Formats: sequence, C-alpha cells, structure tokens
Amino acid sequence: METLFPNNKSLILVVSLFLILSFFTPLISNLRAKNYQQKRLELVNQKILGSSYGRKINDSSVIEALKSVPRHKFVPSERRNRAYKNRPLPIGHGQTISQPYIVARMTDLLNLENDDRVLEIGTGSGYQAAILAEITKEVYTIEIIEELHRRSENTLKALNYQNIVTRHGDGYYGWKSKEPFDAIIVTAAPSHIPPPLVEQLSPGGRMVIPVGHPLRTQRLMLLEKQPDGTVTKRSISRVRFVPFRRNKNN
Ligand code: SAH
Repeated sequence: METLFPNNKSLILVVSLFLILSFFTPLISNLRAKNYQQKRLELVNQKILGSSYGRKINDSSVIEALKSVPRHKFVPSERRNRAYKNRPLPIGHGQTISQPYIVARMTDLLNLENDDRVLEIGTGSGYQAAILAEITKEVYTIEIIEELHRRSENTLKALNYQNIVTRHGDGYYGWKSKEPFDAIIVTAAPSHIPPPLVEQLSPGGRMVIPVGHPLRTQRLMLLEKQPDGTVTKRSISRVRFVPFRRNKNN
C-alpha cells in the first residue's frame, strides 16, 4: 500500500518543518511590524517634530495619532518601503495619499475635541480618516472614485475602526442627513468653497480646505463659523492638492 509518508524519517522531517515554520512566521511578522513602528516614530520625531514647520503642530493628540496609525497599510504594497518618508504617494486612479506633515497640519488646524463629529471629503486611501478617528468620536468620509471608496473601506475594516462611516459619492454637497459637523476637512482642491459644506458646519465649527486653480498651487484656508453664523476665513499657506472632481450627473 502506498502511504503519504513512506517511512518515519520523512514524517519527522515534515513535522519538524511545520514546527519551524509555525515558530518563525509570527516572529518574522512581529519583527516587520516593529520595523515599521520604528520608522514611523523616526518620521514623526525627526522629519515632522524635528523640523521648523513641525513646531506649528500644537495638539499632542495629532502627534499620538501619527505615531500609531500604520501608514504602510494605506499605500499600495509595492510602495510600502516608502510609506514612512515625509512625502505624498500615488494610490492609483491618479490620486495620492497626502504628505504626513500636511495631514498633521490640517488635522491640527481643526482643533479637535474628542467628542467632535467630523466630515472628510476625499477618503482616498483612508489614512486621514484613520488619523481623525484616533482623535474624535465620529468620522464621516466621502470618496468620489468607487474603487478607492471600496478599497479604503476594506482597509479601515481590517484595522477595526468602528467610528468611521464611509460613502461613495460627490462630496460637494456634504452629508446632509448627518449635519451639523464640528469640523470639515477637504483633501482635494476645488476652485471655490462649496456652499453646502459651510452650511453643514455647526456654530463654532472649523473647516480646512485647499482652494484654487487645479493645475497651480492652492491656498490652504481655515474657516470658522461663529456662534452668530458668520464665517471668518484665514489663509494658512500654499499647498498642492489633486483637483476636486464633480460627478457628471450632478
Ligand atoms: N485624504 C486622502 C487623500 C486622498 S487624495 C488620504 O488620506 O489618502 C483626494 C481624494 O479626493 C481622491 O481620492 C479623490 O478621488 C477624492 N475626491 C476628489 N473630488 C471629490 C469629490 N467631489 N467628492 C469626494 N471625493 C473627491
């Protein structure tokens, strides 16, 4: 009769191989995770906090979020080795995950409290949404490209974020059924500030948005809605974002 293991020796060999593999595989993935964590801390401590512009980040919860969210899980696998450079990276469909410093700066400008409800326009990879979800109670995020919406939803689910609600659609109109928002962040650049977004901001609410010509640099604007409903605007810096798109059937 033929058997799978013709003699004891081959059985011992297979069992030992199995034991070796089951011992080393978790060890290797643990080492890899530690390596990514080490790179992430270096990025935050040296490239962001250690630079002159890093001094503009006032909120320690933003720094803590940057140290804990695994940015490498939000970038395509072939770009993982560049995940902890202070650079934007392509995520497909001509879109990019923003530079970590810009994510930190925009989040910091929102001046978030932990019971805030936040709306993001332009989910992209989902990284910015994850940073927001580390700091606040509820995050709503809209993405216009269906595949990016689906991919980011999977990434955020795999990382077990329970306080992020994603949606596929044109964010120009905001998310009327979930208004008002304490903070709104727009991560693609429109030529003008969409009025529905201003309307959906609560009194005392803040919005950060890059505004300007899609092919040039834009102005990063900070808007604040006063308790009486009037809106103040402040220009923060020059930035370069991907264009804000519109659905043709709107
Ligand atoms: N916040 C993202 C950055 C993605 S780049 C991240 O952390 O990865 C900007 C994203 O905005 C792109 O994915 C683009 O498809 C999306 N976008 C552009 N116009 C939009 C619109 N009108 N509504 C919703 N998303 C939009």
